[in-house]
Amino acid sequence: MVTGHTSASIAPGALLGVLGGGQLGAMFAAAARRLGYRVAVWDPDPEAPAHRGADRAIMTPFSSDTGAEDFLDGVAAVTYEWENVPAALCERLERRVPLYPASSVLRTIQHRGVQKRFLAEHGFPVAAFREMRGVEDAAGWAAVTELGLPCLIKTARAGYDGKGQWRVERPADLSAVRAQLSAQGTTAMELVAEAMVPFVRELSVLVVVGRGGEACCYPAVDNLHERGILRRTSVPAPVADAIRDDAQRLSESAVRALGSPGVYCVELFLLADGTLRINEIAPRPHNSGHYTLDACPVSQFEQQVRVLAGGPLGAVSITMPAVMINLLGDEMRAIREDRQAAELAAQPGVHVHEYGKRRARPGRKMGHVTVLHERAEVAASRAEALLAAIRQAVPSPG
Ligand code: AMP
Repeated sequence: MVTGHTSASIAPGALLGVLGGGQLGAMFAAAARRLGYRVAVWDPDPEAPAHRGADRAIMTPFSSDTGAEDFLDGVAAVTYEWENVPAALCERLERRVPLYPASSVLRTIQHRGVQKRFLAEHGFPVAAFREMRGVEDAAGWAAVTELGLPCLIKTARAGYDGKGQWRVERPADLSAVRAQLSAQGTTAMELVAEAMVPFVRELSVLVVVGRGGEACCYPAVDNLHERGILRRTSVPAPVADAIRDDAQRLSESAVRALGSPGVYCVELFLLADGTLRINEIAPRPHNSGHYTLDACPVSQFEQQVRVLAGGPLGAVSITMPAVMINLLGDEMRAIREDRQAAELAAQPGVHVHEYGKRRARPGRKMGHVTVLHERAEVAASRAEALLAAIRQAVPSPG
């Protein structure tokens, strides 16, 4: 059942609030302003990209009482752009204004172990896992061996883009991870061990749940990661219709089980036998959904606005096949300065998005490119050519 405020819809002109001011917050703000809303952005980082497009920018720490009051002043509804905003702050805010997805969703999702248990207990397929309550949890560590090797050890909280993960190939690696955590003084850190899933593809599905409980899914997409970071998304995913349908059905059921309106992304592993496992759920628009800005009548960010405002959900169809490539580190520079990359990026159907972040650290997401073509194979080959030119111009790991 979907619960939450069911107050009347919020008309354009109202102020919508977003916690977090990275590129996802900036894209939410742009969508909201296009639909006539004003936007309050709360991010402690004064350089956060979303502050530039905000009607009200709040830069105090999330623990600040005055920040909370400034942010709430006149705000009609609140959302967030990433799942690691403090759940306690969201609880406090949602006592005053509608907040979607609800803080209860954050409580489930912020902890990998809680999320996995939630999914498993509701009958959704996930990789076999074990939880460790810290480095001293001898029984927890002993249970990891039941998973078989290789397996992955992940921090239960605040991991993203493959950060806070260790691959365990041999029993000695397990002791090494334990010793490393001990040496770092992070003995209390909660961990989750997961069996390695021998996936053939990684898929994801964006699910939108409206305030009245109505839900819809964008088509399943195919994701390629490099070093734990999303590199390329292709839509539609090049898999049988039945697998796409299964992925969409499974994702929608899992999100419905969370019981709150919002935009979600369900990340899935596809196995060789055609079965799926849920990796994780993000309670917000997702990098693998950026193609919706250029390839869909209504983007994932506009859906986020529509959910928040209580309006009808938009169409989730794609107008054309698309391939999205993330631009990491210095790679944005190649698009501007390398002749071949610039020419490929200037072709019709190629859309360049730059996030305007001040510092380009290796692996940091600085922008993305979406390549559209009515033939999926043409979109794929153009995207590959562009990526090859970028890699040649910026040979170090982006
Ligand atoms: P995560 O941060 O958990 O989404 O993990 C980042 C990436 O690591 C995923 O997109 C996969 O490519 C890989 N990965 C994570 N968990 C597993 C797993 N249990 N089995 C195989 N690959 C995984």
